[in-house]
Amino acid sequence: MGLVVQKYGGSSVADAEAVKRVAQRIVAAKKEGNEVVVIVSAMGDTTDELLDLAQRVSPAPGGRELDMLLTAGERMSMALLAMAIGDLGHEARSFTGSQAGVITDSVHGRARIIDVTPGRIRQALDNGNIAIVAGFQGVSQDSKDITTLGRGGSDTTAVALAAALDADACEIYTDVDGVFTADPRIVPTARRVPSITYEEMLEMAASGAKILHLRCVEYARRYRMPIHVRSSFSTLDGTWVAESSEGSEQPDMEQPIISGVAHDRSEAKITVVGVPDKVGEASTIFRSVADAGVNIDMIVQNVSAADTNRTDISFTLPANDGRKGVEALTAIQTAVGFESLRYDDGVGKVSLVGAGMRSHPGVSATLFGSLADAGVNIEMISTSEIRISVVVRGEDVDTAVSAIHAAFDLDSDQVEAVVYGGTGR
Ligand code: ADP
Ligand code: ASP
Ligand code: MG
Repeated sequence: MGLVVQKYGGSSVADAEAVKRVAQRIVAAKKEGNEVVVIVSAMGDTTDELLDLAQRVSPAPGGRELDMLLTAGERMSMALLAMAIGDLGHEARSFTGSQAGVITDSVHGRARIIDVTPGRIRQALDNGNIAIVAGFQGVSQDSKDITTLGRGGSDTTAVALAAALDADACEIYTDVDGVFTADPRIVPTARRVPSITYEEMLEMAASGAKILHLRCVEYARRYRMPIHVRSSFSTLDGTWVAESSEGSEQPDMEQPIISGVAHDRSEAKITVVGVPDKVGEASTIFRSVADAGVNIDMIVQNVSAADTNRTDISFTLPANDGRKGVEALTAIQTAVGFESLRYDDGVGKVSLVGAGMRSHPGVSATLFGSLADAGVNIEMISTSEIRISVVVRGEDVDTAVSAIHAAFDLDSDQVEAVVYGGTGR
């Protein structure tokens, strides 16, 4: 008897019919003789709708209450799923993150899992039940308050429970047939990648490919937990995220040069204009932003103009933290003596990811050439060993993704990628 851990995302349980369909799939896994643990997200766009609702009540709600509100979404779907399974003649029990033993730190809105104590889940399985767990939530070890793991965090709940329960693999069911060479909503000719290493998937997720939550991939790599990303709307094989040879359909295949193109519309850009060009100014600026709890991504500093001896420093940050970033910098404007701040949330980031880049010259030349031919202006550039990222205007993101995808011959000559559901929100 195996232990199967399955996670169903919001688009897979968007309405009553979908919940019943997923229940059948879960029961099928149980009937095959497995112990089954299911992690479920909030239905459809429920989390976004709850956030909109909170906004209408209070423009800047506190983290504790916001987490309490948002976790209600997953509570609804877990209970409904357990009911649907009950109607199919199998016993299912639903558990909140706290009940399932998902222990986190106290950082509301992006809590980290620090321990998993799945005693009640184990007990439910021992009693022959199917266990349904609310994704995306936990309980703070210190304050005992309810926390959330950050948008898309149900993936991380699933991998954390799979590791704690010693499952062989973690199945992530979603609305596309796996990880593709680009978001199939933008590039219908994107190809499904049969297998991808943790390292490459980490870079894709960190670059905005929201098919998997970044921390879920970090967690999976740490615990060497293979992930099978696949569609809940089809029975096709999806993508194995694992060490290079585990789980792969073609274990000894040489890794491709490029894994894919990722994009991210969730960042904004701040430009600190007219910073005096002297030692320590960048340090003061970034210290103040860090002390406000804001993570920054790309940084560009211009060469200072000879006549003024002043320079501009631009950086990107999550648009959600835009207000905090601007406030922190405004507070040090007089001390640093910069002229002004520009805040721009009309930007997008596009990244090319691939482990083979390390050993292949000319990758950046091809990328920049493809953007030039497509008429896309580049505002910022950053690179790592296996990634090149550019910041462009938000309205150019789709064009940039398609142009880069085509330039690296990633387009499939077979059927178009299917997007089975979801609104892409
Ligand atoms: P779920 O609700 O199942 O968690 P998400 O919306 O979080 O689903 O993630 C699935 C979506 O990720 C897909 O519908 C697709 O639009 C998007 N996506 C972005 N990049 C990729 C990629 N490289 N491969 C597949 N899907 C991607
Ligand atoms: N419901 C949460 C969200 O929309 C968590 C998840 O779906 O993974 O972000
Ligand atoms: Mg998701």
